[in-house]
Amino acid sequence: MRILLVSDIHANLVALETVLAHAAPFDRIWCLGDVVGYGPEPNACIDRLRSFDLLCIAGNHDWAALGKLDLEEFNPDARRAAIWTRDQLTPANLEWLRALPERVPAQADRFTLVHGSPRYPIWEYVLTPAVARANFDFFDTPICLMGHTHVPVVYRFQDDDQTATADPLPEGLPLKLNPDRMMINPGSIGQPRDGDPRTAYALLELDALTLTHYRVDYAIAATQAKMEQFGLPPRLIARLSYGW
Ligand code: ZN
Repeated sequence: MRILLVSDIHANLVALETVLAHAAPFDRIWCLGDVVGYGPEPNACIDRLRSFDLLCIAGNHDWAALGKLDLEEFNPDARRAAIWTRDQLTPANLEWLRALPERVPAQADRFTLVHGSPRYPIWEYVLTPAVARANFDFFDTPICLMGHTHVPVVYRFQDDDQTATADPLPEGLPLKLNPDRMMINPGSIGQPRDGDPRTAYALLELDALTLTHYRVDYAIAATQAKMEQFGLPPRLIARLSYGW
């Protein structure tokens, strides 16, 4: 079984289509939230994802589009984009977003899927080994898959001194998913923030128990042109060029 692991698509259909083509063939998609928000094609991204065998959880931007979060928590550009997104979404897609769970176990309880962290699934950013270490106490499975920071990383629990270490995800190199306990972020499809503007995703081979991380060039200018056309905030358009 081959799983396409994606996160933080953020309504960037051009990046999503690039990844779907690059990753094929695969059996199923696991999506770690923030399907919408920031980008220009929220409905098309949801429709495209739903055309596959899909397991998807909710992110903070999905909740913002539903009005389930106070938009005062967002910066002004994110708030503007969230309101625009809410106005675009079809009733059927709003319904679909509303039904997304915050956290799921997957594949015989081997994986926990969350958007932010196992401790606070919608909001917490796991950006340091110390925060990762605290979160290893909040899930029981060997592996936790998460998004939200838009930065690809693997945190490993160290049995000897009970700490956590952080490493960048190697590109194109299968990472063995045992025996260590790990928290893994595959990076963002639609708005990378690690200084590399290429779209990011991972493929999980469940039989071999490996995860391979990929970065792929996509037509950034095509997404930016659509954002301009819809009057989305210039800062959100510009950041796609820099991967930040
Ligand atoms: Zn996000």
